[in-house]
Amino acid sequence: MSVYVTKSFMPPIDEYNKYVKKIFESGVLTNQGPCVQDLQKKLSAYLGVDNFHYVTNGTIALQLALSSLDINDGEIITTPFSYVATTSSVLWQRCKPVFVDIEPDNFTIDANKIESAITDKTRAIMAVHVFGYACNVDKIQQIANKYNLKVIYDGAHAFGSKYKNKSLLSYGDVSTCSFHATKLFHTVEGGACIVRDKSVSDKLEYQKRFGHQGDTHYMLGINAKQSEFHAAMGLANYPYIADIIADRKRVSDMYDNGLGGCVVRPKKQSDLEYNYAYYPVVFKSEAELLNVFSALNAQDIYPRRYFYPSLNKLPYVNGEKCPISEDISKRIACLPLYVGLENETIQKISQVIKATLCR
Ligand SMILES: *Cc1c(COP(=O)(O)O)cnc(C)c1O
Repeated sequence: MSVYVTKSFMPPIDEYNKYVKKIFESGVLTNQGPCVQDLQKKLSAYLGVDNFHYVTNGTIALQLALSSLDINDGEIITTPFSYVATTSSVLWQRCKPVFVDIEPDNFTIDANKIESAITDKTRAIMAVHVFGYACNVDKIQQIANKYNLKVIYDGAHAFGSKYKNKSLLSYGDVSTCSFHATKLFHTVEGGACIVRDKSVSDKLEYQKRFGHQGDTHYMLGINAKQSEFHAAMGLANYPYIADIIADRKRVSDMYDNGLGGCVVRPKKQSDLEYNYAYYPVVFKSEAELLNVFSALNAQDIYPRRYFYPSLNKLPYVNGEKCPISEDISKRIACLPLYVGLENETIQKISQVIKATLCR
């Protein structure tokens, strides 16, 4: 059987059906129905946050983060090392992404390089807790305070990670998350905004449902409401969060042992309780990465190049030079990591990598 980089967690079908039955009985399919409200309550309690909004996906969550903070033009300082949605949401809101290079050891935006990228057009910093590792949140907030900027965290990978004993999603003016099928905790499609300020949260509440209540239209809005069926999947997955993280730790620990220093791994911050969302490995060169890929592909195993290319190099972006991100992007990949990945498969992957690299 083919082994891909990820595989969605599936809850017992009976537990999902229990919610579907209720949906069929009530006939309530969407518009902040009981499943959506229940899931919102459960997830905000799990994360220990207020002002939690469950929305249709992690990309619209980023767009709502910008619009709820009234950022519809100007420059956004952001990272080139992420999934394309981080940059595209900035562009879609008619803002200009300004790329600041990353830390070589954990691939998050280099906070020490942010200040020199600030201009009188800068409105916000949009950073990414990439692979579930923490940005330098203290330093970023310090800079934001000094220059009166908003802070948005793309926390698509951050669910379940804790920094200084608080959810990583509790930092910044707005943090977003993704519950896409490939993410650690999923609702098939889905996302969330976690908002610090109550008045911003109230605005986002309107913006996510067309900007009106009844016949009173308060502001421009969009449709980011999630359906009851998606929320039902979330409710069925919810009881398994601890098991999901524990099993991902099992896989990661086995890779750690099996690879034994053959590849470079990110450095975890000492205050971070990690969620094991991904298992990124950095090779010495792109050629080495491609060798490992062909050896694994020959065994029907498919790791993924996360993230490539560096987003400052997108064809529709005229981005600043980011030599570290451009270099790392060429030689980093994520190994298969999901609940139920068999020990023998993990051993095989480790052996193939070792045989290719450490002969
Ligand atoms: C998955 C992802 C997104 C987008 O989330 P969707 O729910 O797929 O829209 C945004 N940013 C990062 C870093 C992601 O990995």
